[in-house]
Amino acid sequence: MSAGPPRLAARAGAAPSSVIRDSLALISRPEIISFAGGLPAPELFDVSGLRECYDRVLADSGPRVLQYSTTDGDPVLREAVAARLSRTGMPTDPGDLLITSGAQQALSLLSTVLLEPGDTVLVEDPTYLAALQCFGYAGARVVAAPTDADGIRTDQLADLVRRERPKLIYLVPTFANPTGHTLPAERRAEVVRVAGRHGVWVVEDDPYHELRFRGEPVPALSSLDDAGGHTILLGSLSKTVAPGMRLGWLRAPAEVHRACLLAKQALDLHTSTIDQAAAAAYLTRYDLDRHLKTVREEYGRRCTAMLDALAAAMPPGSTWTTPDGGMFVWVRLPAGHDAAALLPSAVAHDVAYVPGSPFFAQQPDPRTLRLSFTTHRPAVIAEGIRRLGELLAR
Ligand code: PMP
Repeated sequence: MSAGPPRLAARAGAAPSSVIRDSLALISRPEIISFAGGLPAPELFDVSGLRECYDRVLADSGPRVLQYSTTDGDPVLREAVAARLSRTGMPTDPGDLLITSGAQQALSLLSTVLLEPGDTVLVEDPTYLAALQCFGYAGARVVAAPTDADGIRTDQLADLVRRERPKLIYLVPTFANPTGHTLPAERRAEVVRVAGRHGVWVVEDDPYHELRFRGEPVPALSSLDDAGGHTILLGSLSKTVAPGMRLGWLRAPAEVHRACLLAKQALDLHTSTIDQAAAAAYLTRYDLDRHLKTVREEYGRRCTAMLDALAAAMPPGSTWTTPDGGMFVWVRLPAGHDAAALLPSAVAHDVAYVPGSPFFAQQPDPRTLRLSFTTHRPAVIAEGIRRLGELLAR
């Protein structure tokens, strides 16, 4: 007699699949103008500079960069990242940083070391989908904090924290994915203050702040945590250098840093030695700031093209965000529309986007959708939005 097939752990079926990753597979037809993927512009990658760096590290220290290495990460890379963070008002010692395989791995490590099943995580609504996936695997209870056009509202935060007793607050405060919004400085200070008073971790997921093309920088939450006790910063080279290198970091208080280091040993031993070495060479020998200037200027042009096209094409009653940086515009269609239901017609009309509903932790708004403005040139963006407007006008 058979006992039937062995079973998966309950958590394996509990986490939602990423609709974005699923839908990217569907929209590969070349005629489609896709605003769906959150991808950096590939033609702006510094391919030749990076190639030189890979060549150089292989030529100068081939055996070392092909070998296993330490879990905490390449010392030169940590030094270079620490110097960049320190320059932006966040004094950072290389020893404060753990290099991770993308910021995504840092999120996963934090979920492992900070969250018990049933613990509450407070998030903005909508929020970054793959963070919701991590919290799902950890068995956390996700609670949506009141959120407006600027991000999490702090007028009721203390009450909410008292009521829900979260273990951590997760925020993408600068050029958020998916909305593009940036949390104002006063609210940042209030989040740090309330969390500090109530003993709540703040996870500041910050892969986009170097992509500002308008306006003035806003201090990182981590720079406002004077005691350095309860804020954790996640960063990444994905949006500034190249996502395929899978390089990110976590800047955390010593206890969290140590716990994540041990969890990473269990997960992947360490992040790719050769990719870290090439990135270290890139950050120390090349001018990332000059490269970023080019990227920011181009993204600014593309964002403007998208905002202008939306103004010209969208039906009355539509609204959208006007980001100062990053990669995304968040659109709300007029009453009666459902962005997910509309997507097949949009794809048939050769334009694609990501429906907004999956980004919501609690009450989805079916009228919303996310557009990425990074991967097409302005004229193509204008044409794609024109197609979307034409479809909506039907
Ligand atoms: N956090 C946010 C808010 C993101 O948008 C992304 C990438 N889409 C990540 C983390 C993961 O980035 P990485 O490539 O560094 O893993």
